[in-house]
Amino acid sequence: MRESVEVNGTRYRWPKQPLAVVCIDGGDPAYFRQGLADKALPNIARYMTGGFAGVAEGTVPSFTCPNNMSIITGTPASRHGISGNFYLDTRTGEAVVMTGPELLRGDTILARFAAAGAKVVSITAKDKLRKQLGKGLDLSGGHVSFSSEFASKCTMKENGVEKVLDLVGMPQPDMYSMELSLFVLEAGIRLLEQRRPDLMYLSLTDWVQHKYAPHEPEAMRFYRALDDCFGRLSALGATVALTADHGMNDKSDAAGKPNVIWLQDILDKELGKGETRVICPITDAFVAHHGALGGFVRVWCRGKAKARDVIAAIGGLDGLDAVLDRETACRVHDLPPDREGDVVVISRADVCVGASERDHDLSGLEGHRLRTHGGVTEASVPFVLSRPLNDEYKMKAATEPLKSYRIFEYALNGIL
Ligand SMILES: [Zn+2]
Repeated sequence: MRESVEVNGTRYRWPKQPLAVVCIDGGDPAYFRQGLADKALPNIARYMTGGFAGVAEGTVPSFTCPNNMSIITGTPASRHGISGNFYLDTRTGEAVVMTGPELLRGDTILARFAAAGAKVVSITAKDKLRKQLGKGLDLSGGHVSFSSEFASKCTMKENGVEKVLDLVGMPQPDMYSMELSLFVLEAGIRLLEQRRPDLMYLSLTDWVQHKYAPHEPEAMRFYRALDDCFGRLSALGATVALTADHGMNDKSDAAGKPNVIWLQDILDKELGKGETRVICPITDAFVAHHGALGGFVRVWCRGKAKARDVIAAIGGLDGLDAVLDRETACRVHDLPPDREGDVVVISRADVCVGASERDHDLSGLEGHRLRTHGGVTEASVPFVLSRPLNDEYKMKAATEPLKSYRIFEYALNGIL
């Protein structure tokens, strides 16, 4: 057994037993609170009393890609560079998807441990995260990296594992289903049984949380199933560490209609068409459950209008929490300036921001209230360890802000 591994300036101790870090996508602390109040989550309840539990600050924007990269590199977005699902390439004027491993700066904790001789596993629900999570991983060395989205297509060369549906004993899950997340955990449990990896990163998807509030029966059915999986991971001897990439808020009015600020339409009217470009960095290929509406958007100035003109035009809008220029946004939220817009717009808990009304397809939301994320109000996430902290980390937890990107550090260096 090695002593420790350094990754991006932080030293991590070699795990004494397998470690499973689970990112519960969209896992707002309210879901744990509801499930614990209902006495429906016995394993999580046990971790909270016998291990460690807190509410941590996640990365803003509170989106999936930035937070998964923060967790897997142990650094804020200013270091790893992934500040959304999309950014605007100002040379070409094109919106660029930020899921390429070449855009991720620094190493992942998994890749560095793998290079030092650890056996590692990375499983994600949606394939968009797979390549960045697997950055630098040599999959010929017995490591595993795949997504449940493409579980049926896994090959030894691409994923380090094959015949995954047989391994897990579940059919290929649908993109819009709770099984897409449960498949990740069931696969992790099977691999823990069969290969006993040293480190596992299991990243779920937030379809359930976008669709169902914590008190709704479907949400609790999902959380009961999650809790059961966590219990099986710990029964197999793993340390279980739970966090989330972001929370979730209801952003509809009393009648069920989404509270949307159509920012591109407002800016076109105020400053002229073509002067600004609004990018919604929540966008990915699967938007039916949120219509690409979130609590954080970026504005790039593309004509004569300057950042101060944008701020003057929308600064006082009801429903916005903050309208910041690039420098301020990067300082306050620890973001990479070269991928930041000229202006950052963050909405209030009950409001979301879109670009132009005609460009968002809200048909997938019919019959449901809009629940989404992206702002500061959705950046609080659970931080739970199945084992208790040592004195050094008890002190840290009591005196320093708890950051979700330090969950690997806490789970490796901080437990008894
Ligand atoms: Zn997410």
